[in-house]
Amino acid sequence: MQAEEHLGQGCLPEIGEPLKVRQTALARFIGEMLEYLRNFETERADWTKGLLYDTERRNSDMIRVGMGYDVHKLTEGRDLILGGVNIPWEKGLLGHSDADVVVHAIMDALLGAAALRDIGRHFPDTDPQYKGISSIKLLQYVGKLLEENLYVVNNIDATIIAQKPKLLPYIDQMISNVAEALHLEENQVNIKATTEEGLGFTGSMEGISAHAVCALTSVKDLEEDDRSFSCGGCCRERIS
Ligand SMILES: [Zn+2]
Repeated sequence: MQAEEHLGQGCLPEIGEPLKVRQTALARFIGEMLEYLRNFETERADWTKGLLYDTERRNSDMIRVGMGYDVHKLTEGRDLILGGVNIPWEKGLLGHSDADVVVHAIMDALLGAAALRDIGRHFPDTDPQYKGISSIKLLQYVGKLLEENLYVVNNIDATIIAQKPKLLPYIDQMISNVAEALHLEENQVNIKATTEEGLGFTGSMEGISAHAVCALTSVKDLEEDDRSFSCGGCCRERIS
């Protein structure tokens, strides 16, 4: 019996009725209320369980978040590339690719949110085709992977941790490079820089690290017509 139908059958006792009648009516009313609450709890539990086990819904409607972290060692004789910007400085980051630590963290966040593992799996550092490659190119590839899996990027937020050099003058260009590689608006990408106050390996300038988080939405269940205007991210080019 539906809880709403059930509730309508009970009524509170009238004040002027004999005590016995009032007691019986009250007991019936309380019994009915308790049954209503029991039904309500059961229905609510079934509804919650339905949400928990509805994998279609989980994979389509919900926002997925990802995080990425990367570190590269600073060394002489290398360019310092961060967010696709070649920053003039006495040292650069060591790595198989251009060692763009913030783009690497962003890619790992995106891949993580889409449950597509990590950059080490997609771009192994033992593969000569990635030697010295621009990480922005790798980011474009990650963007295509997201498109193929019908994910759009909601936003990205990244932090570079470097004692030196001052990165503020280059942040706008980094944001622009990342947004362009993923066909995003610039207000969907945030990159910031901080120091660790001279502490640790970034403080002693042994290396630079970066953290990134992102949020994705699946467009799997959207109709073709809806996708053309709903997508502010990676699927835009594929669909239009
Ligand atoms: Zn890296």
